[in-house]
Amino acid sequence: MKRTITYFVLTCLWLLLCLPGLPQTERKIDKVVIDPGHGGKDPGAVGKISYEKNIVLDIALRTGRLITDSYHGEVKVIYTRSTDEFIELYKRAQIANESGADLFISIHCNANPSSLPSGMETFVMGLHKSQDNLEVAKSENAAIFYEEDYKQQYEGFDPNSDEDYIILSLFQSSNLEQSIHLSSRVQDYFRESTGRKDRGVKQAGFWVLYKTTMPGILIEAGFLSNPEEEKYLNSEKGKNTIAESIFNAFSDYKSDFEKVNLSVEPLVKKELPVEVKKDERVVSFRVQFASYKKEKSPEFRKFKGIPDISVYEHDGHYKYTAGNEPTPEAANSLKAGLIDLGYRDAFVVAFVDDVRVEMGEALEILAMQNGKN
Ligand SMILES: [Zn+2]
Repeated sequence: MKRTITYFVLTCLWLLLCLPGLPQTERKIDKVVIDPGHGGKDPGAVGKISYEKNIVLDIALRTGRLITDSYHGEVKVIYTRSTDEFIELYKRAQIANESGADLFISIHCNANPSSLPSGMETFVMGLHKSQDNLEVAKSENAAIFYEEDYKQQYEGFDPNSDEDYIILSLFQSSNLEQSIHLSSRVQDYFRESTGRKDRGVKQAGFWVLYKTTMPGILIEAGFLSNPEEEKYLNSEKGKNTIAESIFNAFSDYKSDFEKVNLSVEPLVKKELPVEVKKDERVVSFRVQFASYKKEKSPEFRKFKGIPDISVYEHDGHYKYTAGNEPTPEAANSLKAGLIDLGYRDAFVVAFVDDVRVEMGEALEILAMQNGKN
């Protein structure tokens, strides 16, 4: 019996290595969703002279206009709202997912019980490292309390439960690296252009980021609870500078991602730190256990017991994977566990920087990197 299994595993591995190369996906960023937080009956944070919903809508529209004008229609901008209307959180993610966008940018403003905190921060999906970060996610997710049937729509998620944020963060986006790349750029430009406090790139469980399937960030553009910053956020100069910063970050991200020289010049030319690059490509192995024609967003708590679930799209199918292992061996033993759980057709797939590649290519990169160490 053992022998049969060994032969079976070897045959599987051999088949995997011989699979024809996956088609080279054209790396293009030509559709972006801009999501101004709150709206309508939900004002968001309330300052002394303004509502968050109005400021973020204004900044969102300015950012979108810069993108549309600069790329002459080459990049499509989709807004989750372009007027003062209430849009449910789940609908925002739905709009992004159904549009097949390459990027999701959510724009918000912060508030704090104290009037002292100031500055800008950008979030990506993940587990919060501090209570402050958790509080930001809690207050943004609280938008769902404005919805009548939020208990059905959010799969039992309770924005006030600390435990739910830990569960939420287990479903970490497979686009984390890209999201961090973009958010670092946003913070770079914020720091350089606005001269305001750079609070950095952070992680927390925001429902919209959890539900969107493309790289996504959530910008907190400043504190309405700080009177001086509220004035800045309401000024022409403030709103323009913030929009230009987001645009420049988008522009950098687009050209970094597409690896071409674009004719678009940044609006604000700044010398940003250039990192020295060694081969830092992240090679990982995951176990593919399910594939659906229709997107079945990794339903909250549904795949219980399966670690590190992520999803990628290929040939019109949404493929679900488990684990994120540094070696094929580790992925193989995970596969055995999944087969035990009843996913008989589970098999190992390779990723480089979160992009599905041939097993051979991944092994080659891995061998090269190990050779250098
Ligand atoms: Zn907000």
